[in-house]
Amino acid sequence: MTTTPAVETLITNAYVVLQSQKASAAEQAAGVTDVESAQSAGREVDGGWLAIQDGRVHSAGRMGQPMPEAQRRLDAGGRLLTPGLINTHHHMYQNLTRAYAPAVNGTLFQWLTTLYPKWAGLHEESVYLSTYVAAAELLTGGCTTSSDHMYVHPVPRLIDAQIQAVTEVGFRFMANRGSMTRSVEDGGLPPKEVVQDEDTILSDSERLIQTYHDPAPGAMTRVALAPCSMFSVSESIMRSTAELAEKYDVRLHTHLAEDTDEDDYALEVYGRRPVEYFEDCGWATPRSWVAHYVYGSDQENRRLAEAGVGATQCPSSNMIICGDAADAKTLRSMGMAVGIGCDGSASADSADLWQETRTALLLGRFRHGPDSFTAREALNMATEGSAATLGWADEIGHLNPGACADLVIWDSARLSQTGVLTDPVEGWLRSGPARAHTVFVNGGERLTQGQLQLPGLEDVVARHRTAAEAMQR
Ligand SMILES: [Zn+2]
Repeated sequence: MTTTPAVETLITNAYVVLQSQKASAAEQAAGVTDVESAQSAGREVDGGWLAIQDGRVHSAGRMGQPMPEAQRRLDAGGRLLTPGLINTHHHMYQNLTRAYAPAVNGTLFQWLTTLYPKWAGLHEESVYLSTYVAAAELLTGGCTTSSDHMYVHPVPRLIDAQIQAVTEVGFRFMANRGSMTRSVEDGGLPPKEVVQDEDTILSDSERLIQTYHDPAPGAMTRVALAPCSMFSVSESIMRSTAELAEKYDVRLHTHLAEDTDEDDYALEVYGRRPVEYFEDCGWATPRSWVAHYVYGSDQENRRLAEAGVGATQCPSSNMIICGDAADAKTLRSMGMAVGIGCDGSASADSADLWQETRTALLLGRFRHGPDSFTAREALNMATEGSAATLGWADEIGHLNPGACADLVIWDSARLSQTGVLTDPVEGWLRSGPARAHTVFVNGGERLTQGQLQLPGLEDVVARHRTAAEAMQR
């Protein structure tokens, strides 16, 4: 007689969202609501369970259906359980200069030129601390994977320090080896202390890929290449970075069409619009995803969508610093993968993916009307959409059996949920704020009943304060 080995963890008594999708057009025409559609298709299970084994979703079902034996059972208390949210654009080091008074009212260019000299003081310790804090902060907002665009390199080995921090936190991470080559002296925006020559950038990019990039399924760390923006890098580094990404089969990332100042700059310096420049550099490929992408023309949007380029909407940051945001609904309707990003901690000043997802919902409806964009579409952006922009849609962003076990059990403020009876997903996003109650990354519990499982956190926060004071002084 054989017995089936027990799975590691069985979560019971949850409203399980395996995959977030709205009702089809035909269903909508027939008066089927999003929640009815999701439940009848099995994408959502009311009163469900989910089993975890070896870092993966083993199986899922409805209470009452046969469940596997488990070494550990966790009662979710009827709470909502979703795939972990995925952050596709951040600059974690910027939490050392959050809400920095001299910069808070500047335009994007003024804000950058005020802060660049401060960031020139970055070193391994401050980058380690800021990354640790950022990953911990993201976990509390239900984020289980983040990319990070690290483009200020006044000293070497800063991304190594980042990877050390996220590894200690147990956070899934796509390091973006950012770069800047054009300082003020060459017509760029940054001071010369934070730019590097092209050979240094390319050889360090190669070193980081060889050391840390894990292309295998279930990877916890991957590396992408990410020249900062057209006003801080040369055309030649854009081209050679694209060639290097091709050689190692890694992803490409940059800022694009973030601000109207960028249009003027591109026409003056390159004689082209930003998207034309991007295309001419060989970047219009399915390997690329771009941050912000607010000011593409209709034709440019179609061209990039057709080329397979993805985009990150950064709702809070774009509204605070640019006065507009990517039109996610229209871009998605063109077939473009659109994810969500919190952007740098000194532009959005907050790194909470629940909040960004809710703001994406508001932006969609504000722009297109009340029947245009639903909570499930916003959640889809923050999960499957984000995973697609990172080239990772096969494994993260959903909880179908076989997916990485990156998931969140949510806690919403009790009073704000009073009266939410008919749609747990709309209720979660509209009637917040929601915080993570329990978070699993790669099958491991990182946050329990709202508490991070990080014994070193208080020490890191104290050292972060010292580092931030030194930088802002
Ligand atoms: Zn950015």
